[in-house]
Amino acid sequence: MITEEKVKKFFNQMRRDYDIAIFDLQDLGRVLSSAMFDDIARKISRGNDTKIEEWLKTHSVSIPGAIWLCFEIGEGTEDELIEQIITLGHELNHTEQWRDYKAFFAIAYAVSRNFRAWAEARAMHSDLELSYAFNRNPNIYWLTRNLKNYRLEEKHIRVVSKHLRVYNHIAETGARGNGVARHICDYWGI
Ligand SMILES: [Zn+2]
Repeated sequence: MITEEKVKKFFNQMRRDYDIAIFDLQDLGRVLSSAMFDDIARKISRGNDTKIEEWLKTHSVSIPGAIWLCFEIGEGTEDELIEQIITLGHELNHTEQWRDYKAFFAIAYAVSRNFRAWAEARAMHSDLELSYAFNRNPNIYWLTRNLKNYRLEEKHIRVVSKHLRVYNHIAETGARGNGVARHICDYWGI
C-alpha cells in the first residue's frame, strides 16, 4: 500500500541518497525567482507560447543540484502517488546525467535535440522499469508525446520511441537495468 506518508518519507530519503534539492509546487514562487531554473526552463520550453510559470506548473525539470516537480509531493490518489515516484525516478536519471557530463550536459541538452533525445530515452528506461515494478503497463506513445513540450520534434520523438521499444522488451521481463529504478525498487522492496 502506497500512502501519502510513505511517499513523503521516500522523497526525503531520495533527497539524501542523491544529495539533491527537490522542489515541488509549493515552492513555485522560489523556483520562479531562481535565475538558473528560469534560464533552463526558457531554453527547453522555447517555441512554446506559454509563460514560464504556466510551463512549470505542468512540467518537471532538472538543473544541476536540483529537481523541480510540477505536483505536491505526497498528495493524491494511490495512482497519482505511483506516478510521482516514477517521475522522481525519471528526474533522478537526469541528476546523474548532469553529474556524469557536467557543463557539457548543459550545453548539449540545451543546444542539441539529438543529445536531448538520447538523454530522454535513457531516463525513460527508468519510467518503463518502474511502471512494471508497480504493476502498471507503460504506454510508450504517451510517454514520448510529452517530449513535444520539451522542444523535441517528431523525428527526435521517433528516435526516442525506437530506443524505448528495445528497452521495453527488456523491462517487461522484470529486468532492472537502470540504476535509479533499481535503487527505488530496493527502497520499496519490490
Ligand atoms: Zn526527461
